[in-house]
Amino acid sequence: MPVAMDPVDYPPLPQPDELSRPFWEGCRQHKLLIQRCRRCGRYIHTPRYVCRHCLSTELEPSEVSGRGTVDTFEIPLQPWTAYYKKRVPYVLAIVALEEEKHLKMVTNIVECEPEEVYIGMPVEVTFLDVTEDVTLPLFKPTAPG
Ligand SMILES: [Zn+2]
Repeated sequence: MPVAMDPVDYPPLPQPDELSRPFWEGCRQHKLLIQRCRRCGRYIHTPRYVCRHCLSTELEPSEVSGRGTVDTFEIPLQPWTAYYKKRVPYVLAIVALEEEKHLKMVTNIVECEPEEVYIGMPVEVTFLDVTEDVTLPLFKPTAPG
């Protein structure tokens, strides 16, 4: 990671902690790892210490398909960082992952024009290596077929 990072070139970077580190490590390896409960099998995002469904503390990262649909989205006109101001228009979205109802994550939709995005659009994960240490999970339209 460069010593002095130009805020125009880098989005706000995550600060992984004990709970989120497995997620970000997975991204670095271009794998989408979502916390899953060993007892009830439900997925949990963002990561927690206790399963919200059965109160188990037996939680572990589990690789998911990376496929989902656009649950909702917006095209921000007044972004709050230099990085995103330079990239208007872009799509800020909530993607529903296919593994489980209500399993959602905040992300950006990329590799298509903002006006092509719609609610229910099939998408799949793609990874943006921002620095040597940080990779962001973004989503793009699912390839036909
Ligand atoms: Zn559980």
